[in-house]
Amino acid sequence: MKKRLVILGGGESGVGTAILGKKEGFDVFVSDFGPIKDYYKEVLAINKIKFEDGGHTEDKVLNADIVMKSPGIPDKADIVKKLHKKKIEVISEIEFANKFTKAVTIGITGSNGKTTTTMLTHHLLKAGGLNIGIGGNIGKSFAWQVAEDHYDSYVLELSSFQLDGIVDYAPHIAVITNISPDHLDRYDYKYEKYIDAKFRITMNQKKTDYLIYDADDEAITDWLSKNKTKAQLIPFSLTKTLKTGAYLNNDKMEININEEEFIMETDAVSLEGKHNLKNAMAAASVAKLMQIRKETIRESLTNFQGVEHRLEKVLKIQNVQYINDSKATNVNATFYALDSMTAPTVWIVGGVDKGNDYEELMPLVNEKVKAIICLGLDNKKIIDAFGNIVDMMVEVDNMTDAVRTAQKLAEKGDSVLLSPACASFDLFENYEDRGKQFKNAVHNL
Ligand code: ADP
Repeated sequence: MKKRLVILGGGESGVGTAILGKKEGFDVFVSDFGPIKDYYKEVLAINKIKFEDGGHTEDKVLNADIVMKSPGIPDKADIVKKLHKKKIEVISEIEFANKFTKAVTIGITGSNGKTTTTMLTHHLLKAGGLNIGIGGNIGKSFAWQVAEDHYDSYVLELSSFQLDGIVDYAPHIAVITNISPDHLDRYDYKYEKYIDAKFRITMNQKKTDYLIYDADDEAITDWLSKNKTKAQLIPFSLTKTLKTGAYLNNDKMEININEEEFIMETDAVSLEGKHNLKNAMAAASVAKLMQIRKETIRESLTNFQGVEHRLEKVLKIQNVQYINDSKATNVNATFYALDSMTAPTVWIVGGVDKGNDYEELMPLVNEKVKAIICLGLDNKKIIDAFGNIVDMMVEVDNMTDAVRTAQKLAEKGDSVLLSPACASFDLFENYEDRGKQFKNAVHNL
């Protein structure tokens, strides 16, 4: 008899898993608590895959041999608790898809910089001639690609939620960009649990595998000093000189891996900001391990265009530069945005606070920010934090007003930066919507 695969969540990873599961001979059923988008419904129908939305039929779900849970669904959800109670295996899309491919995978996790590093790594490896896909939290799901595209290798952006659902999966090369508190609501508000979740990326790695990580990050080095991994360690650092790994030597980035050296002027890296230098170090280290030629790595780091909503330069109007960093949904990301500002800055900040502590931003705000525009339903914490050090503070409740006010406050040579340090759900659909509204408002000035 066919094995019954039940998929919780009819989004990108759920539908991808359904297609792969069907192809591999499973009896597939997709169940979504909320609505499934029309496009995905059509795909499921065309592929003759059974589905339901607007609620779970428990009999059908609890009758599964194996369950793929989409990353957005918390373990605390009723249906998941019931599955655990019945001891039915619940895995993530990455775990499922990996069973059906022999492709080499590179897995990239961290609190910030995942998407940028994943896209940059893909850019480098593709330029190096590899037949490589990009997936995980980006674009077409990994499972869907395994079913249809048959790449030799994949770069995967892996959230902690994707990693929570792995059992045997191990990337050949793992990257942990950095760790700072985020999504703690899914980890019983315990930071250690969130850190452990990130490190699941290395738990099944072998001696022939690699773990690339930020050696300046205390949460990471602390974990490594107390726990074991079989993978070979490749650190990167902006502050230390390293025998193995990537580091700064004056204005050059140097990488030593397997007794080979790669050196590049940091000025030549197209992405700006210290954080992006770290992302570049991580991506270049992957490329070195994958034996990409030095000239290709150099050229690709020079011509990478950046990613939308991440320190994206939108327009210069009357010599004021407008920058969209809508993806900065936590304080750490905003820290690096402010750090990379070279002009006096009008800063648009605010949204849904995730337990933010603004202390670490104080020196940067003091030095660089001339005006703050609070864009959120509740701005109290921001006003309390910065009211004493920034003279101009304005509250607005929509993007058009935010951008128009910014234009009034900015003078020639200044920058206007949208870097909210908060989630977007009070006034916007998501961070993309917020970033798009910002760009539209700037274009309409
Ligand atoms: P993620 O996919 O982990 O959310 P992104 O690449 O989408 O990461 O970047 C999210 C935000 O973090 C952006 O505002 C970006 O400018 C900032 N950022 C990018 N790389 C780093 C890094 N290495 N450290 C801190 N912040 C970063």
